[in-house]
Amino acid sequence: MSFEAINENTYVCDDGHVRFFLLTGEKEALLIDSGMQVTNAKELAEEITDKTLKLFNTHADRDHTASNCEFDRVMMNPAEFVNYRQDHPSQKMVPVYDGDVIDLGGRQLKAIVLPGHTPGSTALLDLDSGMLFSGDPIQRGGRIYMFGAMRDMSAYILSLKRLMSLGEDIKEIYPSHGEYPLTMDIVPELIAGAERVERGEITPTRTEFFGNTIDECDIGIDVLLCDVRAENK
Ligand SMILES: [Zn+2]
Repeated sequence: MSFEAINENTYVCDDGHVRFFLLTGEKEALLIDSGMQVTNAKELAEEITDKTLKLFNTHADRDHTASNCEFDRVMMNPAEFVNYRQDHPSQKMVPVYDGDVIDLGGRQLKAIVLPGHTPGSTALLDLDSGMLFSGDPIQRGGRIYMFGAMRDMSAYILSLKRLMSLGEDIKEIYPSHGEYPLTMDIVPELIAGAERVERGEITPTRTEFFGNTIDECDIGIDVLLCDVRAENK
């Protein structure tokens, strides 16, 4: 397992389930998520760069945090803390809020919080290149978890609509799962699909999934894994 170059200062590692990213600036380097099948993401990153390495999580789901224990501190949106704390009770947390800019030295990354998939799901936009590291809310050919207490379809739709309205110059989207890179064309498709699910227009497939009964809603570009709606129980 190793990082591969996307360009001269951006690297990706795909561990078979999830991908995570390494971004280097003039002064520091940033790991965006730390994998699921690997527990040595920091070590892998240090094969690429000797700059001071920080860790940012797009959200606290376990498929994004497997190597987090290699770090003393982790940056993420505070809405994720409660979920994260179950596995990492004593790690130092550095809050990242919507609009915050992480500066790696000559490379600025702006946080865009997109609640819905999880309460504090956060994408990072590289202000110079227009690359958006989106985490899980934006995918093509993926399975987006939308069931359980932490997830909310209405918030998800609002987040995607807000992303459309921000007017940020987003040239390419690098999601954690599914095909990549994507472009902003995917976002209206996701909004339309999620709205159809919310209106009950998609006939779901009921499935047992890790002890949960859920409805799989195929919106064409992705499958949304949803709570069973009260009227369908
Ligand atoms: Zn994920």
